[in-house]
Amino acid sequence: MSLLWPIAALIGNYAGNLLPSVIVEGLTQEWQLKELLLRIVILFLIMWLANVASGVEERRGYFDAYTYRLHYSRPYVRKKMRVDYDILESESFQNNAHAAHMAIYSGRGINTIVQSVSSLLSCLFPVLFYGVLLARVQWWIPLLAILSCVFSMQLLSLATKKQGKSYPVQEAYSRKLSYLEESTMEPAAGKDIRLYHMSGWLMKKYRDNLDEMNREYVRVHNWYILTGTGDYLIDLLRNGLIYGYLLYAASCGKMTLAEFVLYFGFVTSFGQYFSLGLNKALSLGAAANVIGSLRKFFDTPEHRNEGETLSAEKAAPSSDTGLTIELKNVSFTYPGQETPVLFHINLTVQAGEKLALIGLNGAGKTTLVKLLCGFYQPTEGEILVNGLPLEKIERRQYYSLLSVLFQDYTILPGTVEENITSTKHPEKAQMERALEKSDFGAVLSKLSQKEKSLLVKEVYDDAVDFSGGEKQRLLLARALYKDARLLILDEPTAALDPIAENEIYLKYGELGEGKTSIFISHRLSSTRFCDRIILLENGQIAEEGTHESLMEAGGKYAELFEMQSRYYREQAREEERRRIMGDEADERRY
Ligand code: ADP
Repeated sequence: MSLLWPIAALIGNYAGNLLPSVIVEGLTQEWQLKELLLRIVILFLIMWLANVASGVEERRGYFDAYTYRLHYSRPYVRKKMRVDYDILESESFQNNAHAAHMAIYSGRGINTIVQSVSSLLSCLFPVLFYGVLLARVQWWIPLLAILSCVFSMQLLSLATKKQGKSYPVQEAYSRKLSYLEESTMEPAAGKDIRLYHMSGWLMKKYRDNLDEMNREYVRVHNWYILTGTGDYLIDLLRNGLIYGYLLYAASCGKMTLAEFVLYFGFVTSFGQYFSLGLNKALSLGAAANVIGSLRKFFDTPEHRNEGETLSAEKAAPSSDTGLTIELKNVSFTYPGQETPVLFHINLTVQAGEKLALIGLNGAGKTTLVKLLCGFYQPTEGEILVNGLPLEKIERRQYYSLLSVLFQDYTILPGTVEENITSTKHPEKAQMERALEKSDFGAVLSKLSQKEKSLLVKEVYDDAVDFSGGEKQRLLLARALYKDARLLILDEPTAALDPIAENEIYLKYGELGEGKTSIFISHRLSSTRFCDRIILLENGQIAEEGTHESLMEAGGKYAELFEMQSRYYREQAREEERRRIMGDEADERRY
């Protein structure tokens, strides 16, 4: 910030104080009208120029605040995308991220700081300037001002301290409110809210939260009113004493009427700038919370293994084979939970092996996959990738070795091509291969803009929308385009119709060629092509073997397989019956 503007503002203010004194002096000394008018015009001109300068400076202040926001918003978004997955999910990071968001984007954050700093500097010069002028009248005037400042600071800081303590509480409410508010705009939540008449219940939750936050806010606000009133009283006392002295000096002839008017103006300006500066200094103190939350957010280490890391190249030097993954006595408990989800898993997936992971809902399959991805670290035991501890491998490099299709997926605003390849200039042959293997090419061929079609209606008005099954094929194409060394597909056909599902199954064998692959599927028949099947039950490996060996063993796998086969046979019979009845009805019609 340039010092020119506060000085210009001070000159303007000084001219404003001179004006009534000049008029009084001109009238009492019987100046010529021309001379008086000339002085008045010059003073007005100075005041006008100073006003223009202050206006420009104010605008510049807004722009500075905006620039600072931009400065922080980019690293803020980048950091959220870079932290390890378990850090992202943790409550403390979520809270810090929300507080940082408020600091960057709300009017109470960086905005306040930038504007307070600029106002504080603008107050500093007038306070010093008028302080010196008033000290020349009476030495105790500035001393009185300093004393009153100390009292005011002590008093007002009571409220700031209360605000500091209440800040995390208010932030927690604000985060809940933002979540509830955002849910009302989410298309997925929008359906449920309408169909299940959830609006009343959600509204009550929103209102309750708002009331709680309001109570907290009012409690702190009352402190501000109380201490603010005390501050006004101190102001009154200070100014009263100074004005009283000026009146006394004028009445006993120690100063002329014009001097009295002039110094009266000085005291008023001094008081105004003093109070404004004090308030700005205190709001800067309160903004320490904001800076604190920004610092907490940006200081959070991005990775658990910040120390020395191994390069993925070292773990997997050759690019044409899959990875060997070894789980040694791995157990895992979610943070804040007591019961482990996985217990003492010992499993080696050989390079190039096709492994099927099956089990009932909640058995721990997805959790196991997240551990393999390095999103969580085992609470016990360790995972080795080609013999090296996964924990030590540089995380971003490790991710480049994985292609994973999860059940909870994301489609990002951009073209279909960008969603599949994460780039504007994809490898054409690789793209075609992925489209063909995932069967997504057939979906794409029906679109007028083909792979350049835009996605996400909330962002692009002319975006296309896909059915659940089509989206799943798109995401399969994304996983296949990456062509990584470990391919994991978590229920990749859950949203597909039986025909499309069957087509993908027929291709399953090829999908994992040349890589290590893990398939999770509820359809047991789809896992037959795998080299090995692992049945997870209650977080443990209950059975392990090929389809034939497991059927022969006659255990849980065989039981589940029989149950599913019976179900699918009955379904097929039912479909056949319907087909025959349809044919007969057609024959009767003709
Ligand atoms: P599966 O994929 O076999 O259906 P999951 O691995 O998704 O099973 O879940 C296993 C268990 O872990 C379930 O009981 C589930 O409720 C629990 N779980 C999953 N994710 C979390 C989480 N983020 N926090 C706490 N518990 C979780």
